[in-house]
Amino acid sequence: MSSNIAQNYPYSRETEPERAAAVERAYQAFEGLRDRAAGELTPFPPAAPGELWWVWACPDDGGAGRLHAAGYARERRALYTVCDGCGRTFLR
Ligand SMILES: [Zn+2]
Repeated sequence: MSSNIAQNYPYSRETEPERAAAVERAYQAFEGLRDRAAGELTPFPPAAPGELWWVWACPDDGGAGRLHAAGYARERRALYTVCDGCGRTFLR
């Protein structure tokens, strides 16, 4: 897995539709990201209405990107996030 668990504070929160749309945008923007993520995460169960998700600032691209939760990491007890700015993945 390419990801490292890093500790930093969440940047903001987003709704389930915002999260799903942001992850989809990242998958479309970065070739191969969808397939790689699919091999490394377990999808979330359906979100409850009104559920909010944390968003983090990417530590690797000068803070321009945002990390959006894409699923649960398969190999560790963590959230699997994808960056909408650089296409990297991180565990949170
Ligand atoms: Zn990034």
